[in-house]
Amino acid sequence: MNKLKSFKDNGDILIVDDHLENLQILFSMLNDYGYEVRRVINGFQALNVVKSEPPDLILLDILMPEMDGYQLCKTLKANPSTANIPVIFLTALDDELDKLKAFEVGGIDYITKPFHMKEVMARIENQLTIQRQRRAIAEQNEQLKAQNIRLEQLNAELIKLNSKLEQSNQDLEQFAYIASHDLRSPLQTILGFAQILGQKYQECLDEKGKHYLDRIITGAERMNKLISSLLEYSRIGNKKLDFKPVDGNKMLAQVLESLQADIESSHAVIQLEQLPIFVGDEVQLEQLFQNLISNAIKYRHPEVTPQIKITVEPKVNFEYLIGIHDNGIGISSEDFQRIFQVFQRLHNSEQYPGTGIGLAVCKKIIDNHGGRIWVESEANQGTSFYFTLPGQGITADVTIEPN
Ligand code: ADP
Repeated sequence: MNKLKSFKDNGDILIVDDHLENLQILFSMLNDYGYEVRRVINGFQALNVVKSEPPDLILLDILMPEMDGYQLCKTLKANPSTANIPVIFLTALDDELDKLKAFEVGGIDYITKPFHMKEVMARIENQLTIQRQRRAIAEQNEQLKAQNIRLEQLNAELIKLNSKLEQSNQDLEQFAYIASHDLRSPLQTILGFAQILGQKYQECLDEKGKHYLDRIITGAERMNKLISSLLEYSRIGNKKLDFKPVDGNKMLAQVLESLQADIESSHAVIQLEQLPIFVGDEVQLEQLFQNLISNAIKYRHPEVTPQIKITVEPKVNFEYLIGIHDNGIGISSEDFQRIFQVFQRLHNSEQYPGTGIGLAVCKKIIDNHGGRIWVESEANQGTSFYFTLPGQGITADVTIEPN
């Protein structure tokens, strides 16, 4: 072992003894074992040394003139900056060691003279190990404290960012609302005059002219739908929510009633599990189920009878996991995130009519209710939309088959 290198690592020991012979024996013994050893011959010197550079351990003789070991130990323990330094008393076998007093004044152990090498080393190593562990724990505590402070700072920054994000979202929604609202009236003017032009000046227009006019009207009508959807989307964010218990089964019956024409024309078979009493905004919950079920019908497989299943799974804390499963055209996994964004569509409106707002509205409704929404799907096999909602409890499986 490299003695020099290991001095500080092994431990820094202060020996306080007025017997120079004892001092010398212990000094060379401990030095040979690789400890850093300092030595003083009385209590006053010891206090000075400890003050300037506190050791890891003090070996302290009891019987010394002026200030004995007990007194010195008491003084060290009374000072918070030196109180944690372990003190091992040194005493001759024939000394009347008042063990109780030694422990009372703060001593942690004692060694008897003449010194037995193995015993001395065992007692010293024992205390130094405890001391090293204590220091390691203190360091870890310091690191934990620093990490905690950093976490708190990050948390505060995150809260600030969140509130900024919320504010800019609100601003954006407000802007979308105002813009779409204001765009509506000039658009109505274009649409109205284009229609009048088509009716009143029909004979003045050749086939090309009529085709162009048709394109203007179709484009304006589509823009009108997009604006309505955008308005609907921004209203979801601006409207004050009216949270109350909502009977899921009754609410769903109303949704299915309003979709009856689509259900009948597509011959969809809808299988339901019993829904709970939700706690939420009834209008928004209806809209959520309506959007998802109408999508399940709309994006059906052309050659397969649509089978739609609504499942319910109670979770902890009165939360319910609802699944809306279809056997339609499916969605490929790279589009799973995108479809929840405004105006994101995977098909053009000739293939499947729509504006790309429905799922963004669903996401916002679920956000408003503190839930999560996600999709699982396999192309050409079918799609499952899952979402969580707060509820109050379950209130018979029902199968609605049209005709
Ligand atoms: P829209 O139906 O008006 O296009 P949505 O926001 O409701 O808008 O849906 C976004 C896109 O997600 C749709 O264009 C469609 O491509 C896809 N999608 C939604 N629901 C389903 C479904 N059940 N099966 C397959 N694709 C779906």
